[in-house]
Amino acid sequence: MKNTSIIILLFTLFHFALVPSIHATEESQKKAAIIIDDFGGGIEGVQEFLEGDVQITVAVMPFTKNSIKHAEWAHNNGFEVILHLPMQPKRGKLSWLGPNPITKDLSAKEVKKRVSDAIESIPFAVGLNNHMGSLVVEDEDIVTAIVEEAKEHQLFIIDSATSPNSKFPEVAKELGVPLLKRDVFLDDVASVPHVKKQMMKLAKISEDTGVGIAIGHVGVSGEECSAGIFQSMDFFKKKNIKVVPVSDLISEQIKDYYTPLE
Ligand SMILES: [Zn+2]
Repeated sequence: MKNTSIIILLFTLFHFALVPSIHATEESQKKAAIIIDDFGGGIEGVQEFLEGDVQITVAVMPFTKNSIKHAEWAHNNGFEVILHLPMQPKRGKLSWLGPNPITKDLSAKEVKKRVSDAIESIPFAVGLNNHMGSLVVEDEDIVTAIVEEAKEHQLFIIDSATSPNSKFPEVAKELGVPLLKRDVFLDDVASVPHVKKQMMKLAKISEDTGVGIAIGHVGVSGEECSAGIFQSMDFFKKKNIKVVPVSDLISEQIKDYYTPLE
């Protein structure tokens, strides 16, 4: 009797150790989220995505010429909108970040103000992910300030995973903020065959784990990125992988997180 209990306990522990919580899904439906970054800034690919029928998630940069226009256009056509928060990378020019970026030299108070202003500037934003940021995502104080502000506004976080040492996962976990991480970049090489190859990787991850998250871009690689994604959809249908808004992948976490409306 005692031995049976121990075996059951061990089996249970082993089972949970094997199933990463973010990839755990009760349903058999395989799902993939495709986040497209740099709306608001980029032009190429915008029309294709926002008038297209692939359920992408639209990540909009704040305070750029087309930020509000793109966010509203996306929302009106049924796409989920998130804030694409510009953050300082290890390499690159500050001018790539656009207005009011999160940089290493800022106080926690200033970071919180910039994040709050950025969140409030993007209509319909339900989450945020980072634009670049390989330098500041490693800074625990800055990341804590960002996550606190996301919590204040009840936004979930998608770690774009621009650094393997990102503090987002541990800080979000500590503060109880829903977070998922990007699995695949689609257009690090701007060619349709490359994007299609990366889409196959996304499909494989979704098949193996139940869910996968990819990030592509409008702008310089926007035409190739949109073409590569659209041309991959037959394969996703054949494999029975549904492309969903990214919040769909964390809906259980989000249910506990949001305060019910009164
Ligand atoms: Zn970006």
